[in-house]
Amino acid sequence: MWIPLFIFLFGLAIGSFLNVCIYRIPRAGMSIHSPRRSFCPECSQPINAYDTIPFLSYLLLRGKCRHCKAKISAVYPLVELATALLFLVVFYRFGFTLDFLHALIFITLLIPIAVIDAQHYIIPNGLIVTGLILGFGIVCAIAYQRADVWYLLTRLIGAVAGGTILWLIAVIGSAILRKKAMGGGDIKLMALNGLFLGAWPELAMVIAFSAISGAVIGTTLIIFGIKNRQSAIPYGPFLSGAAVLVLMWGDSLWEKYLQFVGWY
Ligand SMILES: [Zn+2]
Repeated sequence: MWIPLFIFLFGLAIGSFLNVCIYRIPRAGMSIHSPRRSFCPECSQPINAYDTIPFLSYLLLRGKCRHCKAKISAVYPLVELATALLFLVVFYRFGFTLDFLHALIFITLLIPIAVIDAQHYIIPNGLIVTGLILGFGIVCAIAYQRADVWYLLTRLIGAVAGGTILWLIAVIGSAILRKKAMGGGDIKLMALNGLFLGAWPELAMVIAFSAISGAVIGTTLIIFGIKNRQSAIPYGPFLSGAAVLVLMWGDSLWEKYLQFVGWY
């Protein structure tokens, strides 16, 4: 009972840190360290320490700044809750293993990537580079622990293949649509996905899931008039969501798919 609770609270704290990253990374002149204290984006007042409890503070303040009563975006508590819940799912899926650490690192990178791309239409290089370094480290550690060179090799192939496949889709898509079909950030994100997940069938599943969910949600947004046919819809959130799905349940989903198409 205590361990899942601790992991949930740890997830809330990491989610709170990710909110700082999500706000600061895309904004010039700000870094993760400075300014030292968080502030209200409306009135610039520093936020009191007792108002920075992840998730709980948002509820206690009823979603408003203590000083100027400006509305606080619901994205903040949602990021915290999503991080905590995903950490918990990862724990139940993998237990205390290197795979658990691997999944925590991957999810901690994918959440800010998805939210920043949704808000600003960019995927910061800093997050990709950090991900490639950490990903390479944890993949090497797992390969070493299992004495499995093949594991490492499939991840390296995955990184190269992921970037190459999405680059090809971008080039071909741009030629057909006569406009930019996909950003450079998506290509780099897919290389990161390949490094964490491996090449086959993981990357094929990520492409399939992200394309389907992107089409469904994109169409829904157009129907409800939130976006029009010309507006760009960032692809990063769909690539990230698909990657999380494959990370947790890729094996069993692939097995079900093979059974479904009658391969065995
Ligand atoms: Zn304020």
